[in-house]
Amino acid sequence: MPAAMRVGVLGFGGLGQAAARVLVPKQEMRLVAAADKNGYVHAAEGLDASSCITTYQSQGSLGYLEPYGKISTESIEELIASGCPVDGYFLALPNLPNDFIASVAKQFIKLGWRGVLVDAIKRTSAVEQLLGMKAELEAAGITYMTGCGATPGLLTAAAALAAQSYTEIHQVEITFGVGIANWEAYRATIREDIAHMPGYSVEAARAMTDAEVEALLDKTNGILTLENMEHADDVMLELAGICDRDRVTVGGVVDTRNPKKPLSTNVKITGRTFEGKISTHIFTLGDETSMAANVCGPAFGYLKAGIQLHKRGIHGIFTAAEIMPQFVR
Ligand code: NAD
Repeated sequence: MPAAMRVGVLGFGGLGQAAARVLVPKQEMRLVAAADKNGYVHAAEGLDASSCITTYQSQGSLGYLEPYGKISTESIEELIASGCPVDGYFLALPNLPNDFIASVAKQFIKLGWRGVLVDAIKRTSAVEQLLGMKAELEAAGITYMTGCGATPGLLTAAAALAAQSYTEIHQVEITFGVGIANWEAYRATIREDIAHMPGYSVEAARAMTDAEVEALLDKTNGILTLENMEHADDVMLELAGICDRDRVTVGGVVDTRNPKKPLSTNVKITGRTFEGKISTHIFTLGDETSMAANVCGPAFGYLKAGIQLHKRGIHGIFTAAEIMPQFVR
């Protein structure tokens, strides 16, 4: 069997920790590096997910993990500069401000790192910034997979697949339901969702204190209802030649006080077949699957696909709508 792919996870909040757990039973991938805002750790022989999670939750940073952890406010830069061998990183980082992930990609380029990066970024404008870096990423020898979470990600890819039955795509409608027991497990996700609400912006949501987020959630009974979100599924489907971006809509309901989903996440793809029939395909996720399962699974599937492209010398940037994720065994 070929050596396991060496994986790093940047950001160790809700999604980063779930990503570490997703990798535990995998033969083909091994977690060798992880970083949070205050520290990082790497070990070529692999990191133990439960020790990482316990240390992060009890002490606030992976930097306290014995014996390899390091405390640092420049954790990402130091981790990359350490030269520890990593085939690909999952960027489970908040995209606050809206150009944060693009700035992290620039750091990788500046430090001469080569390999695969995958993000689960959400906003159209954020994905567009990364798409604009195509030539730089290509020149740097980086294969960057963008929009590879659930939405955008799994649902966008499902739309791209479903579109094959039609000669003309009329509408792609994504509706997600997320249930989490408490918002603090996914602070960035919730702040970024609040940024889509009328009267808020990315900057306003970023500036909110935890107490302010709680006060807002108290007013809505813990529920966030989101409509016509600026979601990159639109630019990704447009770029893949499937339909114009204005045909794609994304909205959903997030319950921050109950792990049960308030509604079943689905994508409806309406189009016309070559015979002139109008029809709708519907792809619905199982209600038992969590947001974390539907983000981290695809992210690693795209990471594996990215590693295969990278080995073939194919660099630059790809979206979840143009490449098939590869199942990680
Ligand atoms: P979180 O708030 O739970 O955790 C963020 C982590 O990033 C923390 O460990 C923090 O220490 C770390 N971090 C912050 N700044 C850092 C820095 N400068 N250097 C190193 N580490 C830093 O976040 P989350 O709720 O897990 O969300 C992560 C991202 O995933 C968000 O951007 C969210 O929008 C995205 N997301 C995407 C989808 C999708 O379907 N595409 C779904 C859910 C979440």
